[in-house]
Amino acid sequence: MALISLVVPAYNEEEVLEAFHREVSAEIDGLPDDFEFVFIDDGSRDRTAVIMRSLAERDSRVRAVILSRNFGHEAAIEAGLRAARGDAVIVMDADLQDGPEILPRLIAAWREGGEVVYAVRKGRKEGRLLRTAFSGFYRLAGRVMSIDLPRDAGPFSLMDRQVVDVLNHLPEKGRYFPGLRAFAGFNQVPVEAERRERLAGETKYSLVKRTLGGTNAIFSFSKLPLRLMTFMGFVMALLAIAGLIWVVVGAIIGSGSAQGWTSVMTAMFFLAAVMFIFMGIIGEYVGKIYDEVRARPNYVVAEEVGRKDTDS
Ligand code: UDP
Ligand code: MG
Repeated sequence: MALISLVVPAYNEEEVLEAFHREVSAEIDGLPDDFEFVFIDDGSRDRTAVIMRSLAERDSRVRAVILSRNFGHEAAIEAGLRAARGDAVIVMDADLQDGPEILPRLIAAWREGGEVVYAVRKGRKEGRLLRTAFSGFYRLAGRVMSIDLPRDAGPFSLMDRQVVDVLNHLPEKGRYFPGLRAFAGFNQVPVEAERRERLAGETKYSLVKRTLGGTNAIFSFSKLPLRLMTFMGFVMALLAIAGLIWVVVGAIIGSGSAQGWTSVMTAMFFLAAVMFIFMGIIGEYVGKIYDEVRARPNYVVAEEVGRKDTDS
């Protein structure tokens, strides 16, 4: 009999946590495996941590890691993966958007040899604009990333202990979980899953957070933006040579003139804009290097709740 950990990051989820525990319990009670809940309270300002403590008191399978402040979804997942003790670890959202009815299918695919079993979102419940943005992201990611990032696969997934150990031992600080999961390799199995609507409350992701997350994902797994710079450099050089020839030839055949102030200014502004964009791109990577070198932890644990004994 295997122990399966459910890693559940939660930020201000007081409205859904009880229901989550109830629904998931109902689903896993019918399964032969042992389960542990590993809740991560990502610095919630509501009663999330209180509810976690009371769940842990009522249910010995429940453990909780309380972070010292809000560190973000990625950091919460990282904390959960480190705390999990299972032979397999499942990461799922607290808002029941990742349906508990999918759990048996994830576990079955693991039994059949899948070491990474990830849910592929069929039918999203988000608005039109956000859906377009997601699809644009995955298309871009597919083109430029150095790994094979499966489309529409979010954090919801099961990983074998071997894979979790790989992720836990990665030294890098900049983390994009679905990317690292794909990077780990092993036998990767997709499972189609309908994404539900959030049970209650608002999304904890602002548009800004989402955009930053997407940018981080691309820059973590691609050097293409840097290469683009070299490419633009060559294009500029070609243009300069062409311009030089044009000027010289013009001077020889005597059609040179002082006209063209507007075009020169336009070209200057354009060049300046291109330079600023690429300085920004370099800055992005320098910032990443800075983060890695400083090696600050991605999260701080304030408290651990639940059974302390290790039986694995
Ligand atoms: N979450 C978190 N820290 C944050 C933001 C979100 O732990 O800073 C959790 C949140 O509680 C939820 C999961 O990450 O369990 C996904 O967040 P949300 O449902 O708000 O995102 P969406 O489903 O809208 O993409
Ligand atoms: Mg959600």
